[in-house]
Amino acid sequence: MAHHGGDWSIHQVVAIHEWGETFYAPPSSRQDDRILLEGNEAHHLARVLRKRLGDRIGVMDGEGNYYICEIESVEEFVSLRIVRHLPNRGETHRPAVLLQAILKEPAMDDVVDKATQMGVTSIVWVPSTHVVGNLSEAKLERHLRIARAAAKQCGRSRIPKIEKAVAFEEAVVKFRHWRITHVAHPLDSPSNFVSVDYSEKGEMIDGGVLLVGPEGGFTPDETAIAQRYRFAPLSLGNRRLRSGTAATVGLAILLRELGEF
Ligand code: SAM
Repeated sequence: MAHHGGDWSIHQVVAIHEWGETFYAPPSSRQDDRILLEGNEAHHLARVLRKRLGDRIGVMDGEGNYYICEIESVEEFVSLRIVRHLPNRGETHRPAVLLQAILKEPAMDDVVDKATQMGVTSIVWVPSTHVVGNLSEAKLERHLRIARAAAKQCGRSRIPKIEKAVAFEEAVVKFRHWRITHVAHPLDSPSNFVSVDYSEKGEMIDGGVLLVGPEGGFTPDETAIAQRYRFAPLSLGNRRLRSGTAATVGLAILLRELGEF
């Protein structure tokens, strides 16, 4: 069974309270067993948290590497010595993707924050007929900053990818070969779901995908397209949840199905 991107085989389970805060330094800041913290990260460490020489901190590079480091010098930059490398610390064992219909702010910011904390590998914003909000480049950049802050806060080693699909169908088609694919759908909403055997998907990507609709819900055509590409309807109970709540609850179910907890 294929995995989607990166090396998902190595995982480290180490309690973060052993060293406290996590900082962000892109891969280019590392040379051999040294990392240089710059800008806001250096300022936060030295001036806000007043860390001292010899203190231990966590550093994530956003691309799957987590390091426990010792502070070596604090000047304009902060120089760190790597004491331990923890590949994929804080990451799920299999990729999990949220396909979320575009929402009005601040709902999208909140979805990015929560989904990142829950461990998603990527968030794809999906256009849909009843979408009211829009999505500018500036918003995407803000989402990335929110994702980075959330990933640091919860001690992950990756920052989830955040992208925008060109069209609803394109987003769904792209994930049709993933092992678990769900479309969150309230039982009392109109749809033309018919009986489909979801058990057989041929050559699969070993990961999970959750598709969540906009506040106005999916059209019956959209749910039919999702079903054509083997997205199984997932009910989240007998109440109509706000889209962001549905994403959180649905992701919890997906992660459980993927064996995360
Ligand atoms: N009037 C809309 C409808 O009939 O679909 C309600 C949309 S709901 C506010 C926003 C999205 O959250 C839905 O498209 C669905 O993906 C998800 N959702 C909300 N409540 C749900 C539930 N009880 N079960 C499954 N999905 C739900």
